Amino acid sequence: MRTVSHWIGGKPATGTSTRTSPVWNPATGAQQAEVLLAGTADVDAAVQSAKAAFETWGQSSLSQRVKVLFAFRELVNARMDDLAEIISDEHGKVLSDARGEVQRGLEVVEFACGIPSLLKGEYSDQVSGGVDLFSFRQPLGVCAGITPFNFPAMVPMWMYPVAIATGNTFVLKPSERDPSASMLAAELWAEAGLPDGVFNVVHGDKESVDALLDHPDVAAVSFVGSTPIARYIHERGIAAGKRVQALGGAKNHAIVLPDAGLDYASDHLVAAAFGSAGERCMAISAAVAVGSAADALVEAVSAKARATKVGSGRDAESEMGPVITAAARDRIVDLIGTGEAQGATLAVDGRGLTVPGHEDGFFVGPTVIDRVTTEMDVYTEEIFGPVLSVIRADSVDEAIAIINANPYGNGTAIFTSSGEAARRFQRGVNVGMIGINVPIPVPMAYYSFGGWKDSLFGQSHIHGPEGIAFYTRAKVVTARWPQVTAASDSSFHFPTA
Ligand code: NAD
Repeated sequence: MRTVSHWIGGKPATGTSTRTSPVWNPATGAQQAEVLLAGTADVDAAVQSAKAAFETWGQSSLSQRVKVLFAFRELVNARMDDLAEIISDEHGKVLSDARGEVQRGLEVVEFACGIPSLLKGEYSDQVSGGVDLFSFRQPLGVCAGITPFNFPAMVPMWMYPVAIATGNTFVLKPSERDPSASMLAAELWAEAGLPDGVFNVVHGDKESVDALLDHPDVAAVSFVGSTPIARYIHERGIAAGKRVQALGGAKNHAIVLPDAGLDYASDHLVAAAFGSAGERCMAISAAVAVGSAADALVEAVSAKARATKVGSGRDAESEMGPVITAAARDRIVDLIGTGEAQGATLAVDGRGLTVPGHEDGFFVGPTVIDRVTTEMDVYTEEIFGPVLSVIRADSVDEAIAIINANPYGNGTAIFTSSGEAARRFQRGVNVGMIGINVPIPVPMAYYSFGGWKDSLFGQSHIHGPEGIAFYTRAKVVTARWPQVTAASDSSFHFPTA
């Protein structure tokens, strides 16, 4: 059995804790590896390594950092297929989707390659007689990243390229369910010439997360995962005096108006609901069909759901793979049953699907549940599986009100040919990322990613300008170089220009 170890100080490390967790192959249902679960001492070793590395990396020149970032960018690009295979085998998503994930992560690396421009400060000449004023930003020290299973390469890449480019050192605690992509990333950093200790990986569960949150030498914590854990990370990290950004779960709605192109809207809805088996924080899990759009929409998405090719992520024919664990599958199946019991209509039932040759895989078929109301469990729970709920509304304003009453606010979309309706939607909806005829509006790396309400705790969204601000702190310098012979004009009153 392969063992996934930690990466500390530029090399693999077994640490002292002997606890482990199984790593499954979701397509076969078989265990393929075990991952070490770090204890407090192992986390401390990683933090100490990062702390020592910060002494020099924090002082490195911008051009030194850019050289390493460019080299890392080239290596990730060259190894994209290897990364995609690792992701597909441990997560279950199809290879093309895994490649897309690496590509979107790589875009953050490319953004971080521009760090000399991104870190330019401000300068005001002669704010008072002989006085200049300027600002610049410095790194924080050791930063930690705690990431979810659903994007094992991309979500860590939302964090560490920016943290490292700004001069910090980093300890990543990836999901214990699909830990291997982070180990290849660590090898690629080493090959790119990153000094030992700047990038470390500790695997683990709550024990390792708590050790990072409580560690006095960790300056900042970036978290992406479910809402209850995000809330907990934010509270505990803030209590320990750290800077914290914690991105949580989601219930993303797509409004479909009667004036939308039905084929276009249903194609995109099906892809956004069932792509990656619905295990995306930006997946569309609730369609709000307005007025006469509803019946035709349900018919169209149901036909496309039935036609979706479900299979192993390694099979080039597959459009959708399994979900992450047997427990996740059972929970999704239970929720579908609850939806039916609470009065919704099962238009397409994905329970009981078996994939020939993969009978023990963790599969659930695409499921469409019609006539869902906002009190039902299938609506209030983040299902995180291939389940699309359809809610019916009478007007665009009612649809917006439904979205605004939901506690989450990650992403949302509208399908329409009306500019007026789209503008009303974009201004009125209390959600962080909005798509107009774009179902999964994930911003490019040079913008910041993040939701509102229970989808984000803390002020900072991730990557883009807010990422640069999160991983740095500003200094403002007021400077005067008086002529040695000049008479002093010091005074006891408060300085004014
Ligand atoms: P999760 O919250 O279970 O786990 C996330 C991380 O927290 C993992 O590293 C895990 O080991 C750790 N963790 C789990 N339980 C913990 C505990 N009790 N104490 C401390 N740490 C703990 O999330 P997941 O199931 O891996 O990922 C799916 C969730 O992530 C979904 O809710 C999804 O919406 C969310 N997500 C959000 C975004 C976003 O950008 N907002 C992006 C991706 C995923």
